[in-house]
Amino acid sequence: MSRTPIITRFAPSPTGLLHLGHAYAALFADRAAKEAGGRFLLRIEDIDGARCREAFVAALYEDLAWLGLRWEEPVWRQSARFADYRAGLERLEAPGLLYPCFCTRQQIVAEVALSPAAPQGGQGPLYPGTCRHLPKAEAAAKIATGEAYALRLDMTRAIALAGGAEKLRWHDRTRGWTAARPEVFGDVVLARKETPASYHLAVTLDDAASGVTLVTRGEDLFEATDIHRLLQALLDLPVPEYHHHRLLADEEGRRLAKREGARSIQSLRAEGLSPVEVRRRAGFA
Ligand code: GLU
Repeated sequence: MSRTPIITRFAPSPTGLLHLGHAYAALFADRAAKEAGGRFLLRIEDIDGARCREAFVAALYEDLAWLGLRWEEPVWRQSARFADYRAGLERLEAPGLLYPCFCTRQQIVAEVALSPAAPQGGQGPLYPGTCRHLPKAEAAAKIATGEAYALRLDMTRAIALAGGAEKLRWHDRTRGWTAARPEVFGDVVLARKETPASYHLAVTLDDAASGVTLVTRGEDLFEATDIHRLLQALLDLPVPEYHHHRLLADEEGRRLAKREGARSIQSLRAEGLSPVEVRRRAGFA
């Protein structure tokens, strides 16, 4: 593992202004690359057209450059990669690992409420599998009438095709080897009704396509890596090393988040802080 040249990336979603937590993640990825004489990439995660804004893309370039970061050009943009995501979905579709799901969020919640013993997933109720049982002809008829659908991964079949969950191990620099348990997530969505890809599919394909060898990101995504490891097995992709780092918190101990109004780098800058001071506040002296 140590012989591989290190390639890291910072992968923000342009849905708001960057805050100190982003500065930490970006500086962390950059340092991990530099320490090993490696390369640092920037990737804009802009598949969600409804929430992403070009103004935030421009702002993040400016903030990162102001902090002293430099990255390779051209920058990877997920919005330019839908053809590759489509190809990835087709490879999963061929052995019958995907199925169209027409359920709305409310229908899923109602269905789960009917069976209180239903297992809970890592992020809310586990999808109960309603559309997995839909006859193919019925699904095709719905699609023909233009009904919107997502594509879900048939988790049980996917794990079986990957040779069993015990085969799916991955390495984290701080926590060591982890045995993946993707079944905990149930039949995850790989293409959304409104976007023909999902976070899990896009990051897995992008990290492989851009040659990333060390994925550094917040520890909130630790469990999600189990899904990415499964996709790597199914799509014959290389398995990078991981380093899930801590998340910065505010004075009250709350994790910094855009929607909770965490102070943007721009506002710290407007207050007169220098790049060195902002780097120090993010924990990088
Ligand atoms: N775009 C994700 C975020 O802003 C990061 C994804 C990743 O690093 O895998 O949280």
